[in-house]
Amino acid sequence: MIAKTEAIPIRIATYGGTSHIVTWLTPEYGKISTAIKGAQRPKRIGGGQYDLGYLCELLFYERESNGLHTFKDCVALESRLSLRGKWQETALLSYFCLLAGNGTFPFVKNSALYQKLLLALQALDHPPFIHLMLWFELQLLALHGTAPQLKHCTICHCSPTTIPLLSSKAGGVVCPPCNTKRNLEAYCVTPDTLHFLQVLQRLRKPLPLTSAKRHQHMSDQSIVAIGHFIGRWMDISLRARNIAVQMATLQFKKK
Ligand SMILES: [Zn+2]
Repeated sequence: MIAKTEAIPIRIATYGGTSHIVTWLTPEYGKISTAIKGAQRPKRIGGGQYDLGYLCELLFYERESNGLHTFKDCVALESRLSLRGKWQETALLSYFCLLAGNGTFPFVKNSALYQKLLLALQALDHPPFIHLMLWFELQLLALHGTAPQLKHCTICHCSPTTIPLLSSKAGGVVCPPCNTKRNLEAYCVTPDTLHFLQVLQRLRKPLPLTSAKRHQHMSDQSIVAIGHFIGRWMDISLRARNIAVQMATLQFKKK
């Protein structure tokens, strides 16, 4: 049976010299992979219609063989050509696709994950990129069932003190006595950073947070804090994340 769905290519691997194995994230079928034979020949089916992070309409046969479905055709609904040659944006696009792919299993419907990835990719034209990246990571942690609890101590439920502590081991905010008693390896963040993380976590869309631009320490502390959660709960190399952080925080001199 032929299936038609929206799909975002999240991984493209070459095989056999001229073919591609494309992994797509779809709203209805979750993560699926298709082999596209002769993808690198000049007159190929679907030529120029898909690339990492594009929004496509995909036609495929729901027949699985060795984990691959049979590709029929695809049309690009949104390309990311405007990002071509832009280092920061393309590095983040790759990281978002990698993170989304690692956050789900093949053929498990996850339309929320699909929607969040699409929103993040569509927002790649609007800096500051680090806020977009942190927003996406927080949303994925939530979809993964490991959202940091940022309101009360996760152990005794008291309100955060003047210097909040965060612990990925405990799953969020902890108070000093609980941290000491349970050896939760918590680290300090400032109250405004905690508030910033709460705002980012609540946002349904990655709106630019212009007020946070002026407070570098909030971004810096959030990068470290969310990194602990990503490292503990998501199946992803922290090296890949560090590269994404470097690209997201890179400042270019204005000519
Ligand atoms: Zn406590």
